[in-house]
Parts: sequence; structure tokens; C-alpha cells
Amino acid sequence: MKLIFLGTGPSLGVPVPTCNCETCSSLDPRDKRLRSSVYIEYDDYKFVIDCGPDFRQQVLMNNIDKIDFILLTHKHNDHIGGLDDVRPFNYHQKENMSIYGNKETLTDVKNRFYYSFEKRPYPGAPKFRLIEVERNTMFGYKEMNILPIEVFHGDMSVFGYRIGDFTYITDAKYIAQEQIDLIKGTKYLVINALRPSFKHKVHFDLEDALDFIKIIKPEKAFLTHLSHKFPPYQKLFSLIPDNVMFAYDGLEIEFQ
Ligand SMILES: [Zn+2]
Ligand SMILES: [Zn+2]
Ligand SMILES: [Zn+2]
Repeated sequence: MKLIFLGTGPSLGVPVPTCNCETCSSLDPRDKRLRSSVYIEYDDYKFVIDCGPDFRQQVLMNNIDKIDFILLTHKHNDHIGGLDDVRPFNYHQKENMSIYGNKETLTDVKNRFYYSFEKRPYPGAPKFRLIEVERNTMFGYKEMNILPIEVFHGDMSVFGYRIGDFTYITDAKYIAQEQIDLIKGTKYLVINALRPSFKHKVHFDLEDALDFIKIIKPEKAFLTHLSHKFPPYQKLFSLIPDNVMFAYDGLEIEFQ
């Protein structure tokens, strides 16, 4: 399995327009964060988790020329705002793009991209095939099994996804014990951390994320959805233990 972090930023991205803090002014490419998303290759399949407003730029920057399906975590704009840009993949692959998510997320996709669901959409409209999935209910392709994990983002139910030894979770603030039990055994974990210690109502901060990592005990954990409230990348290393890494855009990892 190969994974590329296409984006590791929060809803505003980093740098934040109008901000001139140390992180937003940093010249280190690792401090340039597009909206959070990952690209995964598993067996013959290529897919992304989330499709935010930077999707078009992300596929161009990473030379991605095929996407078999998209897993959505939740309906916030920074996670689905780029769905209109699946059109080149519709044309190239000559098929509707399969989109997986929970009911609330897919309902929102239908509302936002209503023009794709009209009786006679205009010829250039994006083409989706929406597939509702449920927590704790595995689905997949051939040998690849995907398990939706439910986490909470304030009151909103968000899906993380576990694929074998790998689990991707973003925008979590609360995870129930029974879902934690389904994540245990994960060797490679991606988890959100919006800011250094600064309690946020709907997002893990760094402390929450590190506590969660201690419970799951993965071989390696990657932090994502990182805001400009973190110091520049060069100064981040002192904040975390050895098995944890702040992800950055373009980071590529391969695992069994
Ligand atoms: Zn988000
Ligand atoms: Zn800033
Ligand atoms: Zn969100």
C-alpha cells in the first residue's frame, strides 16, 4: 500500500490569507498546507479520502491520473468542496465517480451538486455514483476491506476508515470506546490535531491526539489537519514522541 498526503491543512489551509504569523510566513514547503486529503494505492486500486477545494491542484501536483473511488469523511466544505473537479476523471475513465460516505454526507453532496442529479444534467456536469455505507459494516474491492469507523466532530458523525493495518481519521473530537476497539491493532494511524494545547470544541488538539495515539499504540502515527497555530515545521520535532510525525503535503509512505 502506498499513500501520499495530498493536503494536511485545516479548513483555512496554511498559510492563511491575510495572516503574517511566523508559520504563515515560513518559506519551508512543509509549512504550505492544502486542505486535508490522502491518495492511496492498494493492489490495483487508486483512491482518495476526501475531496476538498484544493483537489484539482492536488491531483496535478502529484500526477494522479486515475481515481477508482472517493471515500468521504464528512460534509464540511474543506472535505467535499472539490467534487465538481472529478469531471476530468469522468471523461478519462468513461464512468461515474463512485463516492462512499454516510447518509448525512451524501445528502449534502446531492444538495451542493444538485445540478449533477437533475433529470437532464447539462453535458459537462460531474457524474457521481453515491454509495451509502454504515459504521462497523465492511465493504471493499476484491481483497481490500474498508471499515467505516464513527467518530464525533461536535455533534456531527464523521467516518474514519480502516483498511487492514491502516486507519485514517480526521476532524475527530470524541471517539467511543467501542469504535476505539475497532481501531486497535492499527499499525499506521493518521489522526487530526488542529492546534497545540488549546482546547477546541470540535477538533482534537495535539494533546488529545497524543493521548489517543497512546491508547492505539500504532507503530507509526501521522498528524494531519494542522493549523498555522503550530510553530513552523522545523520547530515541531520537540513536541512529539519518536513514533509520531507531523505529516506534510507531498509526504509519501509505503507499508505492507
Ligand atoms: Zn476539516
Ligand atoms: Zn498564520
Ligand atoms: Zn470538519
